[in-house]
Amino acid sequence: MQVTRRRFVMDSLAASAALAAGARMAPAAEPQGKRDEATSAPTLPIIDTHQHLWDVQRIKPPWLDGSPDILRRSYVTSDYLEATRGLNVVKAVYMEIDAAPQQQVEEAEYLIEICRSGKHPTVAAVISGRPALPGFREYILRYRDNKYIKGVRQVLHGATTPAGYCLQDPFVASIRLLGEIGMSYDICLRPGELADGVKLVDKCPGTRFIVDHCGNADVNVFLPASQRSAEPPSHDPEQWRRDMSELAKRSHVICKISGIVARAPQGNWKSEILAPVINHCLDVFGPDRVVFGGDWPVCLRGATYRRWVEALREVVHNRSEEQQRKLFHDNASKFYGLG
Ligand SMILES: [Zn+2]
Repeated sequence: MQVTRRRFVMDSLAASAALAAGARMAPAAEPQGKRDEATSAPTLPIIDTHQHLWDVQRIKPPWLDGSPDILRRSYVTSDYLEATRGLNVVKAVYMEIDAAPQQQVEEAEYLIEICRSGKHPTVAAVISGRPALPGFREYILRYRDNKYIKGVRQVLHGATTPAGYCLQDPFVASIRLLGEIGMSYDICLRPGELADGVKLVDKCPGTRFIVDHCGNADVNVFLPASQRSAEPPSHDPEQWRRDMSELAKRSHVICKISGIVARAPQGNWKSEILAPVINHCLDVFGPDRVVFGGDWPVCLRGATYRRWVEALREVVHNRSEEQQRKLFHDNASKFYGLG
């Protein structure tokens, strides 16, 4: 079954009604650095590699009108600072918002302005693009030497995008071009179609890839049958495991730990329901090729920013402080050259 945007939103809405304050656990080792304002727990610095911003007066993505109420407003830096307060988020990388193609340049220019100002946590951006369409080359080359523009994403998990879309020749040529000009590409596919991602990365060995949102895994399909909703599973968990393992074998691919909280199941969920997905990604990609993403404000459909960070901290608390530091901060700094 395909994961449509509608179903995704509905799942997330159900989850948002079911938030519970989970037990907070201290990290295994006392990390150096700041303490959380709310909990006094020590916190490692965070680079958020998946931050959305939208000012609807300026850029209004077409999907916003059909989205849950919580998303139908502007989300700007002041809101982000409020959402991340006390969590030691030191830098953020903007992620494109599936803007209308005619607003792509405006979106990129808006982000360059923000990054250049030095007044925002946002220090770099991944911008929209339509790699399969004529004009992509001209569009992206104008940002070739821009130090704030790090890569491109086109969301391909929407209901209207056919399977195999990213394997057509013009698309592949554009993704190779990204590699030639030092930019990365974010893979955002339906979880049942990650094999397309494997084929794409094999066709583009000179381009660096980020698999968004743990390959868009649905945490529900990893729950014991007794805890699952009556709905049929949205994808095959074993196939997802195999495909993520295949992607992880390619050294030019990294994995973004993000997004999955939006589909936490109904009821009082605990962080451990996220663990099968997170742990598989961390285990197969290894400590050096995983990065953290907040996916704010889209995460609000399933959890507050704080709840997502706390749940992830709980899942990884048994891993070494060095590994946690790489996940939350160091790998992103290296990958995007933010040092
Ligand atoms: Zn997102």
